[in-house]
Amino acid sequence: MIRRHPRLFLGVLFSAALALGVATAPQDGEVDVRAEPVAGPVSVLFGEGGNIGVSSGADGILIVDDQFERLAPAIEAELAKLATDPAKAAPRYLVNTHHHGDHTGGNARFGKLATVVAHANVRKRMESDKAPAHALPVVTYGEGGASLWWNGEELRLIHVPNGHTDGDTVVWFTGSKVVHLGDLYFQLGYPFVDVASGGNVLGLAEGLRALLGELPADVRCIPGHGTVTGKKELDEYVTMIETITARVRERHAKGESADAMLAAGVTKDFDGRWGSFAFVPPKKFVESVVASLQ
Ligand SMILES: [Zn+2]
Repeated sequence: MIRRHPRLFLGVLFSAALALGVATAPQDGEVDVRAEPVAGPVSVLFGEGGNIGVSSGADGILIVDDQFERLAPAIEAELAKLATDPAKAAPRYLVNTHHHGDHTGGNARFGKLATVVAHANVRKRMESDKAPAHALPVVTYGEGGASLWWNGEELRLIHVPNGHTDGDTVVWFTGSKVVHLGDLYFQLGYPFVDVASGGNVLGLAEGLRALLGELPADVRCIPGHGTVTGKKELDEYVTMIETITARVRERHAKGESADAMLAAGVTKDFDGRWGSFAFVPPKKFVESVVASLQ
């Protein structure tokens, strides 16, 4: 479990502010970065910002996302513990699931150690966000995705077009049966969909539904934020998005406002499970569905 203390809440808000390009004062103080084994050579690091996937084995270390630059020392300390060989503790590859600062902030450090890999739109957006040159992805791909062969398995980098953003990658560890979904999966609550960066709720639901059809029953799912789950929980998340989207679509076609939809209870039966994530209250999610229908 992620420790639910005030720092997590602040972290979520801070991440969200970064995601939206809002200037915020840097935070000081201790952040707990903690590793949890998932399956085979794959672990996850929880800290502040997007969850970090780690593959550690004979080939060395590969990471998926890297939170914030100021957490790099704490992340490196955890990677050193996970390394099978102390001489191979520095990550050789870094895959970014998308461009948001709570997933790529650490590139300022890890881009000096690892080859950074991401969808082409991640590089584009980081360039326009004025990220330092060494933090940018140096291997990029398009709609067809790519494969990385690491620690005895194929990692499929699957691009989901127009989901959380327009540059999302799902990392599918085919041998370990682990999938890192980045912010396509917000296990904490209703999804945040960055429509201004090419995200779309319909694309998000469609991409995840297609993926669910491909994944085995015993897959472990690492969300961008929240705890690792099984396939059933991911399915429930996608069903929630599909159900609310269908309701909103019907009412939107009749010219109803987001406020009227909420008053009519379009999210009501889901609010108990998904409505308490402070950054995405029901209203914000419904508005992002409406924006996705434009
Ligand atoms: Zn994000």
